[in-house]
Amino acid sequence: MTLPVIAIDGPAASGKGTLARRIAQVLGFAHLDTGRLYRAVGLAVLKRGEDPTDPAAAQRAVEALDLSLLEDPDLRSDTTGGAASKVAAIQTVRDALLDFQRNFAAHPPGGKGAVLDGRDIGTIICPDAAVKLFVTASPEIRAKRRFLELQAQGSTRTEEQVLTDIQTRDARDSGRAVAPLRQAGDATLLDTTHLDIETAVARALEIVRAGLGVT
Ligand code: C5P
Repeated sequence: MTLPVIAIDGPAASGKGTLARRIAQVLGFAHLDTGRLYRAVGLAVLKRGEDPTDPAAAQRAVEALDLSLLEDPDLRSDTTGGAASKVAAIQTVRDALLDFQRNFAAHPPGGKGAVLDGRDIGTIICPDAAVKLFVTASPEIRAKRRFLELQAQGSTRTEEQVLTDIQTRDARDSGRAVAPLRQAGDATLLDTTHLDIETAVARALEIVRAGLGVT
């Protein structure tokens, strides 16, 4: 039996991670935040003092990937996010992570269904997903949300610096030759610019339930 897969893609700080987690909780599906895999590879390269744009260094890091890095406190930092987006542009890195993601989607823990979020879930990893959402928001509002999150963690980065980081990452993720960030033709667009998180979750759940044919 094929289990339902929900594919959620979108740019940095669009809210897709929160939406994916909440949808998975409500439906009892397993959730995979695929950005964490690229972040772990980027962080491994940084920890070795190597350059994340160097394909050989990224290849070595993905081959010897230490999964304890998924729990590293630096995994969610913007420096790691930048390194992740550099290693993510390298085809061999994407190839090495493909089977893990597809296997998770086909055999999710719990055996009910899977929610995967990332940049290429609806286009490449799970093109036959039952429901596809493309979550976005203006760069300014994404920067504001991220800035407030970082500030609460004690970061001194300014909102302007956070906006620049986001724009750089957007350009790299959308402009790369391999698996660029783009909305799948059959994905539903959810623009969260003017939505608070609860309204966005409610709207996403409506789209998902309609797509799965459940009430
Ligand atoms: O989603 P998150 O910000 O954690 O992702 C970090 C980086 O990993 C992204 O900027 C993107 O370059 C890369 N990524 C990707 N494909 C995915 C998930 C993340 O290329 N499916």
